[in-house]
Amino acid sequence: MKPQEALSPEPASDGSTKQALWEKLQRAIRSRMKPEQFETWFRRAALASVDGETLRIAVQNSFSRDWLRTYYSEALAESVREVLHDSRRVEVIVDPELLLQSQVPVGAPGQPARSASGPQALATPAVEPAGPNGTLAREARALGTQRAGDNTRGLLATSDVGLNPKYTFDNFVVGPCNRFAHAAALGSAEAPGKAYNPFFLHGSVGLGKTHLLQSLCWAILDRNPRARILFLSCETFVNHFINSLENGDIAKFRNKYRNVDVLVVDDIHLLANKDRTQEEFFHTFNTLYQSGKQIVLSSDSPPKDIPSLQERLVSRFKWGLVTEIEPPCFETRMAILKRKSRERGRELSDDIASMLAERIDSNIRELEGAVTKLLGFAGVSGLPISAELAREALRELFHARRGQPTMEDILTLVTEHFSVRLSDLQSKKRTNAIAYPRQVAMFLARQITRHSLEEIGGFFGGRDHSTVIYAVDKIQELHEQDPATRALLDGFLGRLQAPRN
Ligand code: ADP
Ligand code: MG
Repeated sequence: MKPQEALSPEPASDGSTKQALWEKLQRAIRSRMKPEQFETWFRRAALASVDGETLRIAVQNSFSRDWLRTYYSEALAESVREVLHDSRRVEVIVDPELLLQSQVPVGAPGQPARSASGPQALATPAVEPAGPNGTLAREARALGTQRAGDNTRGLLATSDVGLNPKYTFDNFVVGPCNRFAHAAALGSAEAPGKAYNPFFLHGSVGLGKTHLLQSLCWAILDRNPRARILFLSCETFVNHFINSLENGDIAKFRNKYRNVDVLVVDDIHLLANKDRTQEEFFHTFNTLYQSGKQIVLSSDSPPKDIPSLQERLVSRFKWGLVTEIEPPCFETRMAILKRKSRERGRELSDDIASMLAERIDSNIRELEGAVTKLLGFAGVSGLPISAELAREALRELFHARRGQPTMEDILTLVTEHFSVRLSDLQSKKRTNAIAYPRQVAMFLARQITRHSLEEIGGFFGGRDHSTVIYAVDKIQELHEQDPATRALLDGFLGRLQAPRN
């Protein structure tokens, strides 16, 4: 490495010079953004190297690297110009090791002894922090290392499930459907109680909500093994509350719930129609929020759609960040299938992955189930993973229904895909969110059923044939001109016309 010409003479070693430069740069960067953005993306970064041409900044993972490159390259370039008075190139690299070294405080505690007892459930009293090394902290937890009598640290013993060691950001495949949710979870973990509070994640079942919530917990524990995290299903919250009412120890209940750094409640939609628990949750929420503690919630629907959720909770849930996780697109499904099989020690060819990705299109848990079944089948039979074997192992996926596709099939497909109600399609609503799915359904009906234009119009609240012609033409045009629409429509057509017996 060349010396840092533009630095004012700093004493001592290269290390301290670099540190001084980094501190100056951090100040310059900080002045160019909101404090929470700095906390989220730059607090943990480190200066990897600097020479006459290039300055390299290290971050902990490829996601942060891409984020910095996309959104902060200008701020970085300007900061470098300000501090070094020239326009050296800025590169962002991934180097978790370096970050680790740069954050080892003098006299940091040694590594914990590792238990040889093998992986076990994690809902144990928390462990002694493993110094600044988050990975070790995680391994120690996964191994069940713990300090007797100290159950107040880390994932609290009162959490109802242990964290699954596989549910980490590293194991989460990011695609257009979940990119934002992933970034938001990462952001919350980087600056708990600050960046997004509450963080409210919603989406249908099997799309990765629990996985992201747990990744967030792991990431917080990696950074701060002393963080007190309570991870609960909503059901547990409800049950604890009811029990404590019955046993008359509500004070103890409150103490437990309000005495944490991070409260994660999975599937909060289960508060629907539970008035008294909602009331209690409202107070818990307020106490935690006011003392700057992070609240993380997941739900199958956005706050306003949770039946009979008190208005004041709806509004509080929207205070922070409400993010949706959407069903994965084809490419993401392919990537997940390949990742899941690789995790299990086998590679899936593109052909096989795409065969499965075409047939399982909404639920990631099902994708995972298909991989498990296929690999299990291959293992037992000793046969290579071929299209034939996939058809055999996953017969139900390939087992087509009888008869011609009906209008009902089309409507089911379209309403599910676009998350709209049939009554919306039949209503007079003309917003794009409704009109577009309606037009798509009309187009599909025209393509694959024998219904007349009038009959098709009849399925959509008695629209006349000219409306149907307009819709069919419009979608036909999009099909020809827009590759994304073409892929979507061809996917629909493929599914509706899959061979039937
Ligand atoms: P939800 O809580 O939304 O019902 P889960 O988080 O339980 O869904 O996810 C279901 C399964 O799918 C889990 O095994 C999870 O690891 C996996 N999964 C979901 N999304 C992804 C993703 N983007 N990358 C890898 N695995 C995923
Ligand atoms: Mg879940």
